[in-house]
Amino acid sequence: MTSSYTINRSKRRRHLALKVQHGELVVQAPWHMSEQTILQFVEQKREWVERHLSRQQQQLGRLQRRQWQTGERLRWLSEPLQLVVEHASRKQVTRQGAQLIATMTPRSHADREPRLSIVAWYKQQAHVWLDEFFAQWPEQHGLNPSGWSVGDFRSKWGHCTRQGELKFTWKLWIAPEWVVRNVVIHELCHLREFNHSRAFWQLVERHSPNFQDAEVWLRKHGITVLNADYLDYQV
Ligand SMILES: [Zn+2]
Repeated sequence: MTSSYTINRSKRRRHLALKVQHGELVVQAPWHMSEQTILQFVEQKREWVERHLSRQQQQLGRLQRRQWQTGERLRWLSEPLQLVVEHASRKQVTRQGAQLIATMTPRSHADREPRLSIVAWYKQQAHVWLDEFFAQWPEQHGLNPSGWSVGDFRSKWGHCTRQGELKFTWKLWIAPEWVVRNVVIHELCHLREFNHSRAFWQLVERHSPNFQDAEVWLRKHGITVLNADYLDYQV
């Protein structure tokens, strides 16, 4: 049952909230709430928790835990790429057709490489993708960011700062291209509407008519795509 969970306490939080994330239950609680009150709350929500936990665990169970070894499947814009790890005198990552070849040097740390070089490859490719996207994005839409970057988030796809800068996680580019476009447009719309109001969603719909399908995709596959131990999804 749900006997194990992590409690995240916050001084700003007023109410209890439950979150099932990466196949685990996380309780967000106010700073001074007693363990007993939290336990009672979790017990009350037992059915909801179990339903979500088992769904997530099933989804994770259908995929292989990532080992970063030859033969594993990666994805670029949903297209499968077979990982090949080789040894050479120079460290590099190159894509050749449906293969992504990561070379390691004798001085590489076998347990950290090739993960680090592959993540760097994704970030770089994603940046190229974004540069091309924004080169084609019509200025007259009036949604023009002050800059964009690709980094890493644990549980979200993108972010728009008050300064008008857009940030994305490299993991987004594991998803199909129509989903990626949608996330970028979503963040762009925050330049005008810094909220999730009705006006915001209307603006999103104007620039991305299939945004609802994309939202469904992200909610469904985010569980495994954003999870650093999996970084993949089952169609
Ligand atoms: Zn948003």
